[in-house]
Amino acid sequence: MEENIGISFNNLLTEVLSKDLCNRCGGCVSFCSANGINALEMGEDGYPRYSDEEKCLEGGICYLICPQTKKLEDELKQKFDAKFPIGNWVDVFSARSTNEDVKKVATDGGVVTYLLSYLLDSKKIDGAIVSKRIGACGKGPIIATSKEELIGTAGSYFSEALHLDKLGTEYASCFPVIKVIQESAKKNIKKLALVGTPCQIKAIRKMQLMNIVPADMVIFTIGLFCLQCFTLEDLAKKEFAKIHNINMDDIVKVNIKDKLILTMKSGICVQVPLDIIEKIARPACIACDDFANDYADISVGGIGSDEGFTTVLIRNSLGREVYSDALYKKYIENKNCKCMNDKDESNYLIDIIKEFAIRKKARAEKRLNSLIK
Ligand SMILES: Cc1cc2nc3c(=O)[nH]c(=O)nc-3n(C[C@H](O)[C@H](O)[C@H](O)COP(=O)(O)OP(=O)(O)OC[C@H]3O[C@@H](n4cnc5c(N)ncnc54)[C@H](O)[C@@H]3O)c2cc1C
Ligand code: SF4
Ligand code: SF4
Repeated sequence: MEENIGISFNNLLTEVLSKDLCNRCGGCVSFCSANGINALEMGEDGYPRYSDEEKCLEGGICYLICPQTKKLEDELKQKFDAKFPIGNWVDVFSARSTNEDVKKVATDGGVVTYLLSYLLDSKKIDGAIVSKRIGACGKGPIIATSKEELIGTAGSYFSEALHLDKLGTEYASCFPVIKVIQESAKKNIKKLALVGTPCQIKAIRKMQLMNIVPADMVIFTIGLFCLQCFTLEDLAKKEFAKIHNINMDDIVKVNIKDKLILTMKSGICVQVPLDIIEKIARPACIACDDFANDYADISVGGIGSDEGFTTVLIRNSLGREVYSDALYKKYIENKNCKCMNDKDESNYLIDIIKEFAIRKKARAEKRLNSLIK
């Protein structure tokens, strides 16, 4: 890493933060705190900042792991065989959880929650980093270690969650190494699954590429499809919300497919076109080119699937192994048949994922080009 000496968080400040490209994944802070450097922190505004610049070692790792920097991109693409436009994939399904409690609260088919339950029950992981809702529109990352905790975190809330920062804090609270081992052993958290947006997964993959902690604890990743992040508070300010008289306090469920679908207390579903949502997306999201979560083991989303089902893109042999076993043990079920997927439906699902991935890449290119001019 010698060539990175002299690179520091200051480079992120000029190349990422000052250009409004920071997606607040928390990766830089996570690395810094997990390794006991403690030069960085997440500020009250949700963006990373120096807490103590004097402590900065100028090793450049925070810069390299940032999902918005390009230095490790080729290596990552090569390692994951990430072909245009949706990365590597081996299979695709429309599926749902077999658990009625999960189906009631899940965003789509509850596949994420029940795959994680399977991983916990079969002791393949000790915990899962998921996002817990706080209040009407808030969220916060937690490490769920039981089915009950997982069910409490099902459902999607569309504002950013600092998963990686949480991971760093978990790990950093117990450095140096012996303390880390003692503490994580005490908590029995050695093997983690991570649910995250593409930017969150990409940061962890970059850490893994460089063999740095705490990324080694993440042994399985479930990546959410992601067109953009936004807040319902911002939507409330838009003309659309006023015209359609949408009271944010009446929203009981939020889902995003080829439209944003808001389910109101009355049971009415309001469909918000994506061009409205694009207007409230964070600037960083407009410059982000990964829709299908190219570096996850399994990617999931709602697009293409019927109501109550999750679209599941299996990316590698680990993803296939986990999915097949969860299917066999009846944690999840495929839509059309229990073992093989319907060919026409597979093609349809792949085509729609590609359509959104290409749309997002074109948007990112336009935004990044506008920054160069
Ligand atoms: C910001 C965001 C944007 C999305 N955009 C799209 C899209 O454009 N098209 C599409 O098809 N699908 C999108 N999804 C994915 C979709 O909404 C569902 O999360 C996915 O289909 C899984 O559904 P499920 O019922 O299987 O998951 P569930 O069983 O309901 O579990 C959802 C899991 O996601 C976690 N989670 C919730 N919010 C966040 C967050 N902000 N960050 C990280 N993890 C979180 C929860 O903790 C839970 O573990 C998006 C999700 C998010 C969070
Ligand atoms: S690593 Fe994440 S939080 Fe840090 S600067 Fe990059 S995008 Fe922002
Ligand atoms: S679009 Fe999604 S993956 Fe990309 S920066 Fe925004 S939240 Fe992250």
